Amino acid sequence: MQTAEQKNKTEEITIALAGNPNSGKTTVFNNLTGARQHVGNWPGVTVEKKEAVLTHEGRQLRVVDLPGAYSLSAYSAEEVVTRNYIVGDRPQVVIDVVDASNLERNLYLTIQLIELGGNVLLLLNMTDVSESMGQKLNVKLLSELLGIPVVSAVARTKKGMDELLDAALRFAEGGAPAKKIKISYGREIEEEIEKIEASIVKRGAARGGAPVRWLAVKLLENDKEAVRALSEAPGGAVLAAEAARSRAHIAAIFREDAESVIAGQRYGFIAGLMKETLTRPVVELPTATDRIDRILVNRALGLPIFALFMFLTFTLVFMLGDPPMRWLGFMFGRLGEYFSALLGGTLFGSLVVDGVIGGVGGVVAFLPNIILLFLAIAILEDSGYMARAAFIMDRVMHVMGLHGKSFIPMLVGMGCSVPAVMSTRMLENRKDRLVTILIVPLVSCGARLPVYILLAGAFFPGHLMGWLSAAGLAVFAIYATGILIAVVMARVLRSTLFRGPETPFVMELPPYRTPSVKSILIHTWERAWMYLRKAGTVVLALTVLMWFAMTFPVYQGGKYNTVQRLSAAQRAGSAQAVTAQIEKQAAAEKLEYSFAGRFAGFIEPVMKPIGFNRRTTIAVISGLAAKEVIVTTLGTAYSLGGAGGRNESLRDAIRGDSSFSPLFAVVLMLFTLTSVPCAATIFIIKKETNSWKWPLFSVVYHSALAWVLCFVVYTAGRALGLGG
Ligand code: GDP
Ligand code: MG
Repeated sequence: MQTAEQKNKTEEITIALAGNPNSGKTTVFNNLTGARQHVGNWPGVTVEKKEAVLTHEGRQLRVVDLPGAYSLSAYSAEEVVTRNYIVGDRPQVVIDVVDASNLERNLYLTIQLIELGGNVLLLLNMTDVSESMGQKLNVKLLSELLGIPVVSAVARTKKGMDELLDAALRFAEGGAPAKKIKISYGREIEEEIEKIEASIVKRGAARGGAPVRWLAVKLLENDKEAVRALSEAPGGAVLAAEAARSRAHIAAIFREDAESVIAGQRYGFIAGLMKETLTRPVVELPTATDRIDRILVNRALGLPIFALFMFLTFTLVFMLGDPPMRWLGFMFGRLGEYFSALLGGTLFGSLVVDGVIGGVGGVVAFLPNIILLFLAIAILEDSGYMARAAFIMDRVMHVMGLHGKSFIPMLVGMGCSVPAVMSTRMLENRKDRLVTILIVPLVSCGARLPVYILLAGAFFPGHLMGWLSAAGLAVFAIYATGILIAVVMARVLRSTLFRGPETPFVMELPPYRTPSVKSILIHTWERAWMYLRKAGTVVLALTVLMWFAMTFPVYQGGKYNTVQRLSAAQRAGSAQAVTAQIEKQAAAEKLEYSFAGRFAGFIEPVMKPIGFNRRTTIAVISGLAAKEVIVTTLGTAYSLGGAGGRNESLRDAIRGDSSFSPLFAVVLMLFTLTSVPCAATIFIIKKETNSWKWPLFSVVYHSALAWVLCFVVYTAGRALGLGG
C-alpha cells in the first residue's frame, strides 16, 4: 500500500502560465517544455490552451499556456478562458508571467489572480529590459507585500527557469508562504461585499470552486459571466436584485459606477505598491523604443514607411523567389515528362501527369515565395513592428468607423484568413467584430500568392528603371488594393448594416525587440510546412477531384466536327499548324464535354461579361474550396488541354492562350482577391459568429463585390483598348 506521501509524489502537478499578452508566457512555456510554440507579438495570437508534460526532480509537471489577458473581467474570450480554467480546473500553481519593464500595468492581472484564490507565483520576466531602463525593484519586499513567491527571470536567455521550476514545485508541495493578502476596496465597498458574501453563503449559491469574496466582487462589477452563472443558482434572482441595489448605493456615494470605482481601487493599490518597492531613475532616459518610434510611428512618415515595408516585402518575395520557383517548376515539368513517357497516353497516365504532377507540383513550386513571405511576416511580427502598423492605421481606421485594433486581424490575414477571423475575438464590440470578420478575407492570404505570382509573372515581364520587377510591383499592388478595398468596405458596412457608436480603445505598443533567429525560423518553418502539408492533402485531393470532373464523361468526338470549325485561314495554313490547331480545338471540346465544362457552360452567361472562358471559370469555381486550387486547376486544364504540349510551363501556356491578356490577368487577380473566401474561412465564420447568417451573407456580398469590380475593370480596360 502507498502512504499518503508516496501517493502525493506520483501524482501529476498542473502548472498554468497566465499573464498579459507579450509578457513572455509562450517563451517560458517553450523553455520549460522544449515544445515548438508559436511566439507572437500581439494580443490574440495565443487564443487556444496549449499544454505539455515535463519532469523536474522526478515529478511530472503538466504546463498549460493560457491566453494573454489584461484582466479577469468577462470582456474578451481570452479573459473568460483564463479565469474559467483557473476556477474550474484548479491548477496547483498559477505562474503569473509579468513584464518587469511594465510592472504597474501587469500587476492589474496579478492582483485579480490573487483574489481568485489560487497558488499564484509571480515570474518577474524581462528584467534585462527593466534594468536597462535603470529601474530598481525590491523583489523581497514585493513578495512580502503581495504575499506570494516572486522569481526574477529573463525568459529569452532562459535565465531563472530552474529557479522557477523549483519554486513552483515547492509551492505545489505546500512549502511556500501561504499568506494571502486581501485588497481592500475601502469601507463603503467592503460593506457591500460583505452583505453579498453573506447572502451567497446563506443561499448556497457559490458553485464551481470560485471564492465567495471573488464572486461578490464580480457581482458588484456587474460581470456578465458571474451574473449569468449566479442567475442559475438557488436564489439567483434575489441575489441579482441585492447586487443591483449595492451597485446603485456605491454609484450614489462615488458618483461613478461600481465597476470603475473597483478598478480605481485596484490601481490605487498597485500605485501604492510601486511607491514602496520600485525606484525609478531620476531622469527617465528615452528608451531605444522611444527613439525608433519617433520615426516609425511619426504622424507624417508612419504611413509612407509602412507602405514602403509592404512594397519591399512583396517585390522581394517575387524577385528573390522567382529563380528557385522556376527551377522547381522545371523539375516538376521533367517529372511529368518522365511519367508521361512511362505511362503513355492512358487515363491513369493522364491522372498522374495532368492531375497530380501538373496540379500539386504547380503549388509546391511556389514554396520559395511562400517561405520568403512568411519570413518577412515573422520578422515584422517578432520585432514589434506589426503592432505599430496597427497603430499607424488607427487614424485611417477611425475615419472608416473602426479602430486600429481591427487592423491586427487584417495583418494576421496576410498569412491565412482562418486565424485572422479567429483573432477578431480581441474586439470587444460585436459590431466591430462582425465588420472586421467581413472585411478580413479581402486581405490576400498566402494561398492566393501563387495565383498572383503565376499571373503577374506571365503578363508583366520586364523591369522598371532597369531593376524593379514589374511583376513584383503588380503583386504588391494587388495586396495594397486588397487592404484598400477592405478599408472602404469597412466604411460602407459601418454606415449601413452596422451603425453604432465607436468604442474608444487604447492601442498597445509593445517595445521593439531584436527578433531571435530561432523563433523566426520556427515561425517560418511552421507556416511553410502547413502550406506543404495542405498541398499534399487538401489540394491534392481537390486536384484529383477536378481532374475527374474535367475528364469525365470521356468525349468520343462524335458531337463536334473539329475541322469544320477551323476558319478558312487556319485550314489554309501549313499541315503542321493545322494539326496543332486541330489538337487544340479537340482538347477544348473535350473539356467542354466534361462535367466541369458543362457546369462552367451553365454559368457562362454570368462569367463571360467579365472575360472568363471555360477553363478560367472552372479554375475560380474550384478555388472556392481552397485558393491554391485555382493554380492547380489551371495547371490540369492546360495540361489536359494540351495547349502547346506538356513540357511547356503553365506560365507559358497561359501566355500563349489567346483568351488571356494582361487585362484579363488583372481581372483574374482581382476576382481571386475579392470573390468568396475559401471553404475553411466560411466555416470559421460560421463557428465564430455561431450562426449561418454571416457566412451566407459573406458569400453573397463577396460574389457581388467581385463581379461588379471585375466588370468595371474589364469593361473600362476594353474601352481603353487594353485588349481582352
Ligand atoms: P506571450 O504573448 O506572453 O506568449 O509572449 P511571448 O512569449 O510571445 O514573448 C513576446 C516577445 O518577448 C518575444 O519576442 C520574446 O522573444 C520576447 N521576450 C520574452 N522574454 C523576454 C525577456 O526576458 N527579455 C526580453 N528582452 N525579451 C523577452
Ligand atoms: Mg503567447
